[in-house]
Amino acid sequence: MSYLDLKIQELKDSGVYRELPINEGPCEAVIRLNGKDVINLSSNNYLGFANHPRLKKAAIDAIEKYGVGAGAVRTIVGNMDIHETLDQVIANFKHEEAATVFQSGFACNAGVIQAITSEKDLIISDELNHASIIDGVRLSKASRAVYKHSDMEALESILKEKRDQFEQVLIITDGVFSMDGDIAKLPEIVQLAKKYNALTYVDDAHGSGVLGNSGRGTVDHFGLHGQVDFIIGTLSKAIGVVGGYVAGSKASRAWLLHRGRPLLFSTALMPGAAAAIIEAFKMLEESTEYTDKLWDNARYFKNKLVSYGFDIGHSETPITPIMIGEESKTMAFSKELLKRGVYVSGIVFPTVQKGMGRIRCMVSALHTKAQLDQAVDIIYKTAKDLSII
Ligand code: PMP
Repeated sequence: MSYLDLKIQELKDSGVYRELPINEGPCEAVIRLNGKDVINLSSNNYLGFANHPRLKKAAIDAIEKYGVGAGAVRTIVGNMDIHETLDQVIANFKHEEAATVFQSGFACNAGVIQAITSEKDLIISDELNHASIIDGVRLSKASRAVYKHSDMEALESILKEKRDQFEQVLIITDGVFSMDGDIAKLPEIVQLAKKYNALTYVDDAHGSGVLGNSGRGTVDHFGLHGQVDFIIGTLSKAIGVVGGYVAGSKASRAWLLHRGRPLLFSTALMPGAAAAIIEAFKMLEESTEYTDKLWDNARYFKNKLVSYGFDIGHSETPITPIMIGEESKTMAFSKELLKRGVYVSGIVFPTVQKGMGRIRCMVSALHTKAQLDQAVDIIYKTAKDLSII
């Protein structure tokens, strides 16, 4: 057996090996998965934009005009006027001086963190920050420290002890934590950053399009415009398309266009995607219909789960984990739910810590109350049958 065969056998023996499910149509509330219609509680398509006619039309029109590919990296000849427009749309939406679009949220974190720090700096990161932040930090030459999740005393004690030893200190946090659905203590983080002269970096992948006025994100939710140095977002979740961005100062944009490696070495976003994203921001500006529906559904679903006795952790957003603990039990629960018509992905190590397995339910604006009722009934009966509740 090869090294990889052995590793795969280990996964199988511990009950966490998974075959990828295959979705045969668009990302909707009900999807055709592996040939069977199931209620979809697994996608990040919060607002239902991924298959929205207005976004599709914008993408098709842009494909007619620009073709399907940008043809090069942004810093050579891949920088089309539609990318520049998109940067400006995002800057305006976020009330920031400038924004720069990347090919994905992952690429953005992987590229930005290393570009804005050096070996003379310190990065302080929440222990539950997303994998792309962790990898971005690994790519940086800066020193690093990790604080206990949302523990402001722990963050302050690192700042107190280490601030003077470094040129810049960068505090990095998710805006909304992707596996738990809790919101970062951003006002306190910003206060500490001011007190210790540190920079702040918020990855708002799950806050953008969800929190704040018209979905402007966690910074807007707390009324902290102008007080966070780097705001990262993804265009693949609430916005429904693909891509990532950093919003902040004009200087940060200028620097990233010279040192943000994914901008220098990876082809620019597909122009059709850029057009669809511009349309999505227009829709968010026009009406709160989609965000209102999302929150209405999320509250309804979460209240119902809690009334059935489920532990949904510390979630404050539509991300709704159901805490299970043991990895194999988590995966067995998820598999059985799929058989019974609800697709909720099981989340286990390395996505979360060992022993912290959960199924993560993602409610969207697309779900009807009847679908949510049906899903909770199936979740409850399955949990009973598997002695989870
Ligand atoms: N940051 C966070 C907090 C995320 O949850 C994700 C997506 N899982 C990303 C970044 C990466 O975004 P993308 O899917 O656009 O690469």
